[in-house]
Amino acid sequence: MTDAPTLLFLHAHPDDESILTGASIARAKAVGARVIVAFATRGDAGETNQDLGGDTMGERREAEARAACTKLGVDRVLFLGFEDSGMADTETTKNPAAFCNADLDEVGARLSIALVNETVDAVIGYDRNGTYGHPDHIQVHRAAHHVAPMLHAPWVFDATYNRDYLQSLEESGYGEIDENFASPAGELTHFIEGTDVFAAKLDALTEHRSQAPEDMDLDAPETISGFAQQFGTEWYIATAVIPEADFGRFGAIFTPADEWSGAPPAV
Ligand SMILES: [Zn+2]
Repeated sequence: MTDAPTLLFLHAHPDDESILTGASIARAKAVGARVIVAFATRGDAGETNQDLGGDTMGERREAEARAACTKLGVDRVLFLGFEDSGMADTETTKNPAAFCNADLDEVGARLSIALVNETVDAVIGYDRNGTYGHPDHIQVHRAAHHVAPMLHAPWVFDATYNRDYLQSLEESGYGEIDENFASPAGELTHFIEGTDVFAAKLDALTEHRSQAPEDMDLDAPETISGFAQQFGTEWYIATAVIPEADFGRFGAIFTPADEWSGAPPAV
């Protein structure tokens, strides 16, 4: 692909890059795009049932994220140095250094300086619910839209889930989700899926051992019940920063939402 774009994925915590956008990163790399992943935090507030040895939570999760990004072919990994806000309504959200309390101009300044020699064509963040309401994820939504013009990036893509689709899955546990979770099908503009890129996503996920639930076997991730069905397709809401923004170079990566078959990728 000539003239392939540079995509900046802005993520809240290590493992978000694989869970929300692992297939997208794999697809972007497969068509020759340049991919930069910037993590707002190191996920210091994460919990684990693993022995971390001498590592702090942040050190372990940063190492896991770097390993996952290497597997996905990411060209550059940045850590922006904000602190994990923890879950909504907990004490850690009051920390002035927490990402949820960050000045968005400060986020833009850190990215602008780190990326001074890059031409960023799109910033990928999350939808207005931060997909599931985590304060750092909601802040990613705000930050992605705030920093895109500062980085001269003409497009913003909100990564999300298809709420209507999840609600329709029997026995998934998502039947009860409301308008505070992800985005309705009618707002989604593009998607990414495919057996090859889903395999890459699962492979990257296996690096995040500190965050794996006890009932998940990372050595056989394809066996996770329902994962392909629920998270095999990665959804986006594309927003042009300026009316003249040309979508052409993204056509090899993102497929228009109205072309979705309605079925998850075969695994
Ligand atoms: Zn997260």
